[in-house]
Amino acid sequence: IETSESSTKRVLLLKPRGFCAGVVRAIDIVQIALDTFGAPIYVRKEIVHNSYVVNDLAKKGAIFVNELDEVPEGARVIYSAHGVSPAVREAAKGRGLKVIDATCPLVTKVHVEAIKFAKQGYSLVLVGHRDHEEVEGTQGEAPDVTQVVSTVEEVEALVVPDPDKVAYLTQTTLSLSEAGIMIDALKKKFPNIAGPKSQDICYATENRQTAVKNVAHGADLVLVVGSANSSNSNRLVEVSKNLDTNSYLIDSADAIDPVWLEGVKTVAVTAGASAPEVLVSEVVEYLQAKGFGSVDEVEVMPENVRFGLPPEIVQAIASAP
Ligand code: SF4
Repeated sequence: IETSESSTKRVLLLKPRGFCAGVVRAIDIVQIALDTFGAPIYVRKEIVHNSYVVNDLAKKGAIFVNELDEVPEGARVIYSAHGVSPAVREAAKGRGLKVIDATCPLVTKVHVEAIKFAKQGYSLVLVGHRDHEEVEGTQGEAPDVTQVVSTVEEVEALVVPDPDKVAYLTQTTLSLSEAGIMIDALKKKFPNIAGPKSQDICYATENRQTAVKNVAHGADLVLVVGSANSSNSNRLVEVSKNLDTNSYLIDSADAIDPVWLEGVKTVAVTAGASAPEVLVSEVVEYLQAKGFGSVDEVEVMPENVRFGLPPEIVQAIASAP
């Protein structure tokens, strides 16, 4: 019989959580470029949306810039995991930059779909957050025919030249349930709308959301480790709140307000696709110090995805002394 409060307080550590294959690949690319070519290596935008990762690579010699005009002519630049528009690729050519592309292959897949639909004469509707770099990049593949929507009201207000020649795509890191609502609204407005063969929301986004959905009902609080600008991390907080389980997005253990833990018996901990495991471990240690004595990993599904490195990096490794 458990008598003390601390013996009943527990942590459920969700799995899968944290780094996805696209993030592992993007970080590896910067690290290998630094090791092979030496610092400085320029990176356009945050390589992934996590402040710890970005600060760590900056310490090792990566220089993060917002736009290519901040990169000296002829220098080496890496594109982030979120991808870039053709306009950025052109700008890099114009400045004679040596480009290494760390765009996640699952983002590239959406770019390829956008190009295909645009070539076939479709008007494109991109479901996503218009200020997100991934959306800017995808929209840039066919800017004249692509409209971005993020609410059902925006879907209802869409005007296109031919309602029978419309295709939709989505950002890779949306909430599955909200994307479903948006796609239903699109199908209602454009009954003949075309879409991707398989959904654009990536496996990592889906798996982390499914894990939260499975566990949130049995928890009093869900802590999501991730940075404020990380789309998929924000969606994990929403998934939990939609199930009426309180949830917070935290960059690290330092961000936990002890008030959140008052009266809480079970805390579920997960991490967005760009959040490193070291930060998750610190959160678990913090909770243990607060009396959450038992820590159980709850594996909702296996995840074993890996992506190969881009040819620029494979060649660099092959020709390194
Ligand atoms: Fe790629 Fe998905 Fe990871 Fe984004 S969250 S980098 S799309 S695997």
